[in-house]
Amino acid sequence: MIRYIRAYLRAFAETVRFEPLLVPVAVLLAVCMGAKPFVNIYFSARIVAELSGTPETDALVLLVAVCLGLNFLLQLLQDALTPTFYMLRSRLYEKERMAVEHKLFRLDFAKLEDSSFQELVHLHTESMDRIFSAFVQLCWMFKDFLTGLVTLVCAAALIWPLLRLGVTKTGDGFLHSPWFLAVLGLGIAVSVVVILHLSGKTSRIWFHSNERYGRLNRLFRRYRDLLADYNSGKEVRLYNERPLIEKEATEQLLSKGEVILRETSQQSAAASAYIAVVGALVGFGVYTFIGAKASLGLFDIEALVRYIGAFMQMISGITAIATTLGRHAELLPNLEYYFRIVDTKSDMVYGDKEIALDAVEVEFRDVWFKYPSAKDYTLRDISLKIGRGERLAVVGRNGSGKTTFIKLLCRLYDPDRGAVFVNGVDLRDLSCECVTRLFSVVFQDFKLFALTVSENVACGEDADERKLAESLKSAGVLERIERMEKREHTPLYKDLDRDGVEISGGEAQKLALARALYKDAPVVVLDEPTAALDPVAEHEIYKQFNRFVEGKTAIYISHRLSSCRFCDRIAVFRKGALVQHGTHDELVCADGEYKRLWDAQAAYYIEELAQ
Ligand code: ADP
Repeated sequence: MIRYIRAYLRAFAETVRFEPLLVPVAVLLAVCMGAKPFVNIYFSARIVAELSGTPETDALVLLVAVCLGLNFLLQLLQDALTPTFYMLRSRLYEKERMAVEHKLFRLDFAKLEDSSFQELVHLHTESMDRIFSAFVQLCWMFKDFLTGLVTLVCAAALIWPLLRLGVTKTGDGFLHSPWFLAVLGLGIAVSVVVILHLSGKTSRIWFHSNERYGRLNRLFRRYRDLLADYNSGKEVRLYNERPLIEKEATEQLLSKGEVILRETSQQSAAASAYIAVVGALVGFGVYTFIGAKASLGLFDIEALVRYIGAFMQMISGITAIATTLGRHAELLPNLEYYFRIVDTKSDMVYGDKEIALDAVEVEFRDVWFKYPSAKDYTLRDISLKIGRGERLAVVGRNGSGKTTFIKLLCRLYDPDRGAVFVNGVDLRDLSCECVTRLFSVVFQDFKLFALTVSENVACGEDADERKLAESLKSAGVLERIERMEKREHTPLYKDLDRDGVEISGGEAQKLALARALYKDAPVVVLDEPTAALDPVAEHEIYKQFNRFVEGKTAIYISHRLSSCRFCDRIAVFRKGALVQHGTHDELVCADGEYKRLWDAQAAYYIEELAQ
């Protein structure tokens, strides 16, 4: 219980922080909606009384006019508030999403990649698809609850004299005794408990079924995206994967999903039917009570109309409150998804040290590293120094740990043991901005975005045109960009822009290279930078390599061992360990991993030449 109260208080505080106006607007709306029926009940009763006596035209006209005027005013207020409520609600939805995105962006990479955290993010996204936003739901519930409360208070005020009659003016028999009122009160109390229970149960059933359905839907969407996405379109067509994908998606969603939805609908329909029966029973009791009192001639027709109207409103107010409260069973877990995400803390703590960003020396000292989800160490006891302005090539077989080595260098992960130093300062002591400025990296699986060329290369900054042109030129892609109609302002890809340009894998790799050059960081890391390039482009990049990295510390990962000769030293990785390092000439003479790799590649080229 305390947990629920705490969660709701926090959710309210967050709602007010996001949209301070939403709560007052919801309160006003609830007052309008809750009070409106009573205007009609009250004035109808007065009009009926007037008509049943000797009607006075002036009085009648006044009553009708006041009733219509109040109706008009309340409706006007409600109509004015409703769009504001909807607008604030949409903003609340956006703010919830933005708060999550803000968190995701700031979380350290290791946490972001963690599978249980990813699952949490999926659950939150799916809950937003389903119920729009937990905070918006909370506002709806708050408004519905208040509307029910206003209804209840107005109804209680109108039927108060009747309740007093129920106790004071009694006749013969049970129907005329105070016991009847007591039993009726008890009946209403029991019905509240029953409705609370049933609505809580229904909302729990919906929550669980939505979660199960959400997972299937995730799968379905994934498959549908594969069919719709033009990037995966080639494989889907060439390997005729459509029947498989459709079968998977359709079978999962239609057959299993249908069963889930059918079961849930049946259960919730049964609960709604029970709620209706309980409401009808209470209604029956109320009519009998009012009828019994009327039969004693204790009130006139005006009071009769008022009591019946107010009592029935009271029942609907009670039902609304109980049903709204019951919905919390579905709301609370969805709110908790949000709070668990925003409460997730980065394990990575940054220091506040800064270093001069001209030339840097990097040192790995006794570094061990294991991925959070892995059993074994991916890097074992790596010790290596890369001097200021030195060019180091990193080679090794697939999976030997080269990219992981880079990820640790850029502080996407922290070592489990040992440390990485830059100019003698532990990376963990540097400020986040300093670490970000230190590295220009082109990963093997680099990403470009559906933005313009200039935005991609200058990363959203106002691009310095000269520097942009130079970077594009050095990366060998300037000519291609200049051929585009909007030059550097051309949007890439068609995801967001119909005029977006599709570029080849090699052109994309050159743009990624241009982005790294534009950043002009003191450490340049190129992970297989020429894998997608044709031999001429590759040759050009190699020729320019020394110029790119002049004065910088450069790390270069490549499977093409001949290209490593540009580098001062070569580090050889094998199964997560640094097994050799030295110059090409030294390593090729030594009997080790490098020579084996070199011989294997040489043999391949000799075979090629012999054919
Ligand atoms: P290389 O770049 O030399 O091909 P990597 O550094 O990419 O090798 O990978 C080294 C090992 O770490 C591989 O066995 C790979 O499967 C594993 N690995 C890479 N990334 C992850 C990750 N995010 N979680 C768990 N294991 C990973």
